[in-house]
Amino acid sequence: MNTYKLLTPGPLTTTDTVKREMLVDRCTWDEDYKAVTQKIRRQLLELGHVSEDDYTVVLMQGSGTFGVESVLNSVVGAQDKVLICSNGAYGERMTQMCQRAQINYSHYAQPYDQIPEAAQVARLLAEDPAITHVAMVHSETTSGILNDIQSVGKVVKDAGRVFLVDAMSSFGGVDIPVADWGIDFLVSSANKCIQGVPGFSFILCRRDQLLASEGKARTLSLDLLDQWKTMEKDGKWRFTSPTHVVLAFSRALDELLAEGGIAARHRRYVENNRLLVEKMRALGFSTYIDGAHQGPIITTFFYPAGVSFTFADFYQYIKERGYAIYPGKLTEAETFRIGNIGEIYPEDIEKLTGIIADFLAERKEAIA
Ligand SMILES: *Cc1c(COP(=O)(O)O)cnc(C)c1O
Repeated sequence: MNTYKLLTPGPLTTTDTVKREMLVDRCTWDEDYKAVTQKIRRQLLELGHVSEDDYTVVLMQGSGTFGVESVLNSVVGAQDKVLICSNGAYGERMTQMCQRAQINYSHYAQPYDQIPEAAQVARLLAEDPAITHVAMVHSETTSGILNDIQSVGKVVKDAGRVFLVDAMSSFGGVDIPVADWGIDFLVSSANKCIQGVPGFSFILCRRDQLLASEGKARTLSLDLLDQWKTMEKDGKWRFTSPTHVVLAFSRALDELLAEGGIAARHRRYVENNRLLVEKMRALGFSTYIDGAHQGPIITTFFYPAGVSFTFADFYQYIKERGYAIYPGKLTEAETFRIGNIGEIYPEDIEKLTGIIADFLAERKEAIA
């Protein structure tokens, strides 16, 4: 059915059974359909290891960015200030959201190959009592680095602030005990590690913090609390829900559990990633992120030396042989990225790295 598999971190390669769910049209006020939304919300709480007493889930139309923007625009009020810790494009995007909505923020920017440090966050919070919220990305898909949200969450809680996490490309593929790590709002989306198709994001919210956001929202369509109030009644979405995507996501959640839950999916992704890095190193490629902070989701590689190389040529060569990879997103170095999430197995990594070996051999011959 697939013409090529996606080695991109969302949309990603989904199973045929997930895709098949989208062949049915559903009525948005039908009880069976609304029950699917409620089931999804319960399953997401379980994946986050949190109870319905303390946490609740809001599903929000749009891609992941809409979810992040919904949280920033809905919970950081006019009297509040958010500290944004960034080490990549997605962290920086949060500063753009604040600029657009005139949300008061300060920015702790790290180089893309280094993680935001908990000690530095603690210092910044001590220095500026006006800061009420801290926002940060878990898996920075820009580079593939995995940030230490557990340590940062601890200092945020110790300082009595609210913690917002973009766990877009990690939730479902990396275990996140949401309450234990002090996360008040966690955002992820349908088309990443849960392995659904694009169309909505979801937010795990601490109930008391969500309720405390009453009256703060700056937009109507992204109003998190308003969205929750409607959905909480009986599972009906506030505005048109992406019905086909919801059904596919429900199936994807069941398939995640059938695989053995987050632990099993994490093992598969880690093994994909380990094999990818090992094989690519053997071919002479080096990684942008060092071993300690490299996450299991996506890896950034430098362009190879000693061969004539353009990304377009490389991409086309690999695509013709069954896989789509990702361009780099760094400004300071020439890189490309290979994701290993989705319906991807070590056999795929073996095949891909075989294709890349052939590419290098052909291009070296061309030079010689
Ligand atoms: C994918 C992703 C997003 C959201 O991107 P969209 O294109 O809006 O889906 C946000 N943050 C991170 C870290 C991501 O990987």
